[in-house]
Amino acid sequence: MVRAGALAARTTSAEETQRLAASLAKLALPGDLLVLAGDLGAGKTAFTQGFGRGLDVTEPITSPTFTLAQQYDGRLPVHHLDVYRLDLLGEVADLGLSELLDDGGVVLIEWGDAILPMLPSDYLEVRLTFGAGDDERRVVLRSVGPSWARRQVSLLAAVAPWAEAPDDRTAGGTVSGTTTGDVAGGPAGGPAC
Ligand code: ADP
Ligand code: MG
Repeated sequence: MVRAGALAARTTSAEETQRLAASLAKLALPGDLLVLAGDLGAGKTAFTQGFGRGLDVTEPITSPTFTLAQQYDGRLPVHHLDVYRLDLLGEVADLGLSELLDDGGVVLIEWGDAILPMLPSDYLEVRLTFGAGDDERRVVLRSVGPSWARRQVSLLAAVAPWAEAPDDRTAGGTVSGTTTGDVAGGPAGGPAC
């Protein structure tokens, strides 16, 4: 699989991640799907809050862990799902994702990478990983399928304020290689567990 076109950004606070997400939300179209990947506490919910803000959602967006899916009204309807509790996979099927995607809104799924076989193969993957400092996050965006790939130039512009300079990856002296590598595993001296 080709990983062409992945964009990397860096944020240093939750507010910054939210602003980045709000900037991306300006590009949102009816039927869009965003797959949010990253460990617990990486910022998937924070990202969704910012994305909602960018779509003029005024109601507070909270973690839907126990409700599985939550809908918010904005410029487009926002469907926020969290499939962390994998025992609820059956319920994900019951939700009728295709109906959600068809209703003219945007669907954001936390831990969506865990249910890729159940998803259409046309989405924006947003992968959040921990950075060197407590409040630092790396945000890697990857268009899968045509609908976000078509917006690549706009995506670049939307994240430009937070874009990671190519040299940043080696600034800590621990990362080498190219963006084709997996980002799993914290290379920047994260806590051993
Ligand atoms: P997730 O949904 O991935 O489990 P949350 O968004 O619920 O993560 O939590 C992220 C936590 O990390 C919040 O407490 C947030 O304030 C904090 N945080 C610190 N720095 C950042 C950052 N750069 N981006 C996002 N969240 C951050
Ligand atoms: Mg969350």
